[in-house]
Amino acid sequence: MYRIGLVVLIFILSSCKMRENLEEEINFSRARKEMVETQIKARGITDKRVLAAMLKVERHKFVPPEIQHLAYTDQPLPIGEGQTISQPYIVALMTELLKLKGDEKVLEVGTGSGYQAAILAELCKEVYTVEILKPLAERAKKLLKKLGYKNVFVKHGDGFFGWKEHAPFDAIIVTCAPPYIPKPLIEQLAEGGRMVIPVGPEWRWQDLLVIEKIKGKIKKRKVAPVRFVPMLGKGVKER
Ligand code: SAH
Repeated sequence: MYRIGLVVLIFILSSCKMRENLEEEINFSRARKEMVETQIKARGITDKRVLAAMLKVERHKFVPPEIQHLAYTDQPLPIGEGQTISQPYIVALMTELLKLKGDEKVLEVGTGSGYQAAILAELCKEVYTVEILKPLAERAKKLLKKLGYKNVFVKHGDGFFGWKEHAPFDAIIVTCAPPYIPKPLIEQLAEGGRMVIPVGPEWRWQDLLVIEKIKGKIKKRKVAPVRFVPMLGKGVKER
């Protein structure tokens, strides 16, 4: 009798927890929809594939548990080690600027939480992402694996030097700001490829640039002033 009572109690408690989890998922999904409408579409992002990816990827899984309730708000958020996950609109804007069609090999410099890499993974063939801080690289690798992404490869290292073994890349996205464009990244960009990168000093706004390699020549275009964490590491200090 006592045993049956215990089993019933465990059943009731676990179904309450499941219900709570389900309700939470529904709330997050509603918040994500609102984020896409009010922060992303409203500011002019129109690429349907980018909008679908922003709607699908669960941003709250990429931020620390204590700030999950802020995951869909219009701001960057801390992810530990003094680093941040970019504002959702900036992720969408940079992704749209890459003009991905689906068959590209993409390099990301600055894995951070892995969120941008997950968005890219929805939109291209393979993502190679490099993170200089080991705890972040390890955490992102684990999370992306847990979420089932088989086309994202995470490396702990200095992304200033790109990822030579897998070059050339059809697209490169840099999510930390160097004071100038790293030469290895230009070299590892494929002919006809595009790179989106914030360039400028640490102490003020940087320029978000779109760089295209056309017949071996580099074409640069300024898109918007942005604020990113600085690129760290020896590479960037060598010049
Ligand atoms: N794309 C991330 C946001 C990254 S914040 C996301 O979606 O969460 C910028 C990241 O760049 C930080 O994690 C920082 O540690 C990393 N970073 C800084 N300098 C770097 C370098 N030289 N190589 C690789 N990563 C670097």
